[in-house]
Amino acid sequence: MRLDRKNESNNFSPPVMVNALIRKDGTITSAGEWHYTFVDKNSALPLYDLMPLEDGNILAAAVQKALSDPDYSKRPSGEVILELVTELNNHNGGVCSGIYLSLISTNETENGLPLGRICYSDMAGFAGAMESDRLKISKYRYFMSMRSDIYFEYNSETNGLVLYKYFNGNCFVLTDSDLDEYISSVQEKHIGSNPAYREEMDTLISALKNRQRNISHTVQYSTAEGYKRTSKFIGGALQGHESIVAGIYISNNRASDEPYYMTPAARDAGTGLLNKRAVTEYIIDMLPTLGGRTSWLIMIDIDDFKNINDNYGHAFGDEVIAYVADSLMSIVGNRGFVGRFGGDEFMAFTYGIPSREALKNMLKVLCKSLALKYDGRFKLTLSIGVSSFPVDGSAIDTLFAKADKALYIAKEKGKNRHIIYDEKLHGGIGGNYMESQAVSYALSREKKREFITSLVLGLSQKGIDYLFRNKNVQRDIRTVFDLDGITVIGENPAEVLCSDGKYVLENIRREDAVAYDFTGFTHMGGDDHTYVLNNTESIKESNPMMYDRFKNLEVGACVVCVTFSGDAACAVMTFDVFNKTRKWSQSDIDMMSIIGNLAGALVVKSENR
Ligand code: GH3
Ligand code: MG
Repeated sequence: MRLDRKNESNNFSPPVMVNALIRKDGTITSAGEWHYTFVDKNSALPLYDLMPLEDGNILAAAVQKALSDPDYSKRPSGEVILELVTELNNHNGGVCSGIYLSLISTNETENGLPLGRICYSDMAGFAGAMESDRLKISKYRYFMSMRSDIYFEYNSETNGLVLYKYFNGNCFVLTDSDLDEYISSVQEKHIGSNPAYREEMDTLISALKNRQRNISHTVQYSTAEGYKRTSKFIGGALQGHESIVAGIYISNNRASDEPYYMTPAARDAGTGLLNKRAVTEYIIDMLPTLGGRTSWLIMIDIDDFKNINDNYGHAFGDEVIAYVADSLMSIVGNRGFVGRFGGDEFMAFTYGIPSREALKNMLKVLCKSLALKYDGRFKLTLSIGVSSFPVDGSAIDTLFAKADKALYIAKEKGKNRHIIYDEKLHGGIGGNYMESQAVSYALSREKKREFITSLVLGLSQKGIDYLFRNKNVQRDIRTVFDLDGITVIGENPAEVLCSDGKYVLENIRREDAVAYDFTGFTHMGGDDHTYVLNNTESIKESNPMMYDRFKNLEVGACVVCVTFSGDAACAVMTFDVFNKTRKWSQSDIDMMSIIGNLAGALVVKSENR
């Protein structure tokens, strides 16, 4: 028997067990990834609606009773209130039966309102048992990979010797050859015809071939260069597998046996993640073993990390990096591996996430937990670009180039998002990978700059009419910055000089601009004031009136440029995003400010004439 380790798949699923917080109305406010994967499109529905009517009613009654109880908060956290064996519907109409569900008291609250804890797990007998077996094997492999041991396995039927090592839960074969050929190749490579070595080797060979129950054999030799080497085989014949002898192989000549990525030098000192060289070499080794199994190359960059360093100090920045690294490692688990490319840039390669939906769920859960981590101080967000093996290519350069391109599009579109590369949407990649990341970033900025240049040129030659009379220019502004609406208002606040897109009329009036309380906006300074609101949610606390107003108008984010003459606002140009949370990059804001302030100045000029 020979285990074909190279093809051993690693596609076990995580244990099906969910911990969630439930509101009184039955909706879930926070749950593990599996919950969202499972209910997907139904995730906004009350949990009651996903259960058989009777069970749903029982749970609803228990939740309502508990959460309405004025003494609920005094209850010790963790008290089991209700247990049910029930069924849950998933998003495509399937039913998962054999669910054990419990309602448990908790001190967690949301906006001051009490919540309940829901735990549920899949008890589905046979499938569950299979799953747990696979889990055990996978866990075993994972633990083995935490040791740095190399294992050997000798098969007396085939005379084959395999040296292998577990790494990140995967098995890598370092040597796979006929025992006698292996011995003579070591001899040839290292020691010529030293008779002492030959003798030691013969003892080892006979121990293996005779399938000894206990083997502990050391081979010592000097290499042709005069270095002392020791190789030790510790193990014995496996009971129940007559032809197999297996154990641990220890060598002080590791470096030549192991790939770079398995060595301590391959780990980034700050986070323990693999470094760039290690990641690259590891993926090269992995790809041929995947047998076409869908895998994802995920490039990750922290948004505005410089601000975190500037505002909270470098040491805190380091903590944030370590936290992101830990979060990535725990969410990827042994479905793949994680690396750090230096600075605030990370990558993950996953081969245990079967579908695009599952990938998106994983990323959503990751981003949600990061966003909450430093709640109150700042929102930690990531830009993520993904390419897919084998769809996007089977060469590592291509996969990197495509994931990189997607990442930079994510940055350009305003950060805090993930983009999965799609050639139809995002265009092909340029020939040379090394150039591609800089080039694709520069190109999209370059295109914007070109647009701004021609707009500024048009405005300065033809005046504000160039913008007002030209519907295409208005539309181009919206396309370039991904806006839902723009508006320009001049001296007469009732008269909108120019608008394109929806809702813009009601959005802002010039007269309001002077009186406006811009608390919570970022003030960009200058005589012509530019106020930036990257995300309406950010003023929920500090400026609730404005927040409500924007919420009614469905404004998700905006840039407001107010041109003043003395204390009076003379012109206002707004750039709005409706019903979305948006974060523009600094370069986008700068460019929008240029347009807004120039337009304002030209409106004032034309009205004064
Ligand atoms: P963007 O959203 O465009 O990614 O903006 P950013 O501010 O994150 O910009 P960028 O990725 O270019 O900047 C990364 C910064 O991270 C630059 C560098 O000063 C800082 N940095 C790099 N390595 C470390 C580190 O190990 N620790 C800390 N604290 N900061 C680091
Ligand atoms: Mg960054």
